Amino acid sequence: MITNMNKFKNILKQKNIKPTYHRLKILEYIVENMGTHPTAEMIYDALKGEIPTISMTTVYNTMNSFLDKGLVTPVIITGTEVRYDYNKSHHHHLQCRKCGKIFDIDIECPLALGKKKFINGHRIEEVHGYFKGICKNCLKSKKE
Ligand SMILES: [Zn+2]
Ligand SMILES: [Zn+2]
Repeated sequence: MITNMNKFKNILKQKNIKPTYHRLKILEYIVENMGTHPTAEMIYDALKGEIPTISMTTVYNTMNSFLDKGLVTPVIITGTEVRYDYNKSHHHHLQCRKCGKIFDIDIECPLALGKKKFINGHRIEEVHGYFKGICKNCLKSKKE
């Protein structure tokens, strides 16, 4: 646990973010729950039991500074909320319309051709693919 905290401390220091206890715990949570793409509410709900001093504002402010420094990327697949992604590799997302979970989709994307691609004279810097459907878990439980 202590080694982990040191690792997270270094990650924050590298990004010029002061490693406060709250920020470290939030970073720990998003790294350990990377696959769930949590919202600020989900982070707050998960941590408030263990850390009674944490507030929703702290979580929002922390996530905003993480976004600013490029520590996390936003996933705005639902259109109504921001989900946070710590996974740095380029990938797309699927949202299941049954369980609402968000999954990483690893496909060879013909549009993701690196940082400096031009389309119609515009320089493309990011490509986000959002897929909607029914996830494999929900498909499986339907059959049973
Ligand atoms: Zn599902
Ligand atoms: Zn992702």
